[in-house]
Amino acid sequence: PQDPRLKAITEAIRVVPHFPKQGIMFQDITTLLLDHKVFKDTIDIFVDRYKDMGISIVAGVEARGFFFGPSIALAIGSKFVPLRKPRKLPGEVISEKYDLEYGSDCLEMHVGAVKHGDKAIVIDDLVATGGTLSAAITLLERGGAEVVECACIIGLSHFKDDCSVNGKPLYFLVEPR
Ligand code: AMP
Repeated sequence: PQDPRLKAITEAIRVVPHFPKQGIMFQDITTLLLDHKVFKDTIDIFVDRYKDMGISIVAGVEARGFFFGPSIALAIGSKFVPLRKPRKLPGEVISEKYDLEYGSDCLEMHVGAVKHGDKAIVIDDLVATGGTLSAAITLLERGGAEVVECACIIGLSHFKDDCSVNGKPLYFLVEPR
């Protein structure tokens, strides 16, 4: 039987057609953040999953991974590491470029944020192609961390058969409407 909290999570996410451009069904999780019960349930599901796994790092992908990652990190007793867009982090960084449908993007992480032996999870709001999470995994591994799993609120259904990205397990709560 499906966790009854998942239905409310699905319903709390607003779908905005044709944003930011024609043809995209934008999954807007800011409406989920406005519902205290649903927001708390979302965090609790991740906390229950990761609390006893020896996770030392929760890495959040800019920007929407920042809404969820720190709450999970505090609750499971781990650190939070932001993976940011280029030229946002002031210290020495390592960068990982990745391809988008049109053009490319890049994630950066501070040198020294993770170390050899760290066990990390990566969190973002949504996985579409997996390109962003792939880059996040590579960054963490280049820093010496072991990536245990990637976690998202929303996963596109094609990940149902192969629930992995860049060789790492992928966990998500709901599919888009
Ligand atoms: P991808 O790298 O293709 O897996 O895309 C995932 C990234 O793009 C995440 O950071 C999402 O926040 C964002 N994204 C992609 N598609 C959507 C969508 N339909 N609604 C909201 N965010 C999206």
